[in-house]
Amino acid sequence: MPAQKPSPKSKAPLKEIKSSAKKAIATKAAGVRVSTKADDGVPLSTIIRRRIQAKKARFHANDNISQFIEPGDLEGLVDEVAVKMQGVLESLVIDTESDHNTRNTSQRVAKMFVNEVFNGRYVEQPTLTKFPNVSHLNELMIIGPITVRSACSHHLCPIMGRVWIGVLPSKESALIGLSKYSRITEWVMCRPQIQEEAVVHLADMLEKKIRPVGVAIVMDADHFCMQWRGVKDRDSKMVNSVMRGAFLKDANLRREFLALMDRR
Ligand SMILES: [Zn+2]
Repeated sequence: MPAQKPSPKSKAPLKEIKSSAKKAIATKAAGVRVSTKADDGVPLSTIIRRRIQAKKARFHANDNISQFIEPGDLEGLVDEVAVKMQGVLESLVIDTESDHNTRNTSQRVAKMFVNEVFNGRYVEQPTLTKFPNVSHLNELMIIGPITVRSACSHHLCPIMGRVWIGVLPSKESALIGLSKYSRITEWVMCRPQIQEEAVVHLADMLEKKIRPVGVAIVMDADHFCMQWRGVKDRDSKMVNSVMRGAFLKDANLRREFLALMDRR
């Protein structure tokens, strides 16, 4: 089997990836073993689900459940998803034993889901270093385009797009570093969801963190569930905007933001 290299895009802590790779070497992809916390055969996902339900928390596709994830759980989830993914391939009548291209597909897909494309469900929010607004800036700031990837929660098809963020800080607002806008956007987007909810969620988070006078978000994206399947409309895009505070009340500010963000 190929070497299990940690993906550079993976957001899981390095320590975890290393031990996951070690375990993967001992794991035959064809008969992946589910690692469980207890040896009584209870799947790890059931154990995590029980922790969530005990706190009466929600665990929809676009919810972050990092507070219920313990060290080592992500590797266990990769193994569990790989077993079930193998079942999907078998049900699709794909001969994963003699077809070398699909021999390790279940393991690859499991790692992609847990460590990459849906990683925003399992890891904690990136820390946002806040700076005091010493110069009392209260001018419009625009960040973007931030390249984002997500997936629709209806078909798990990719959503590839760009996000622009407009912030009108108050003289008292905290400021966060520019790169943090990308990191928090990626964290929100790396979950299965629908675009309309994703932009609202991002706006809520930024309002809470920065307490600005206004926040504006525009996202435009290609939805593969309209291009790869369904209507197969290659050119269909979806554009969403959320305007909060000053951006909602002040048409001039809104116009300035929309004119300055470069949508080429
Ligand atoms: Zn879809």
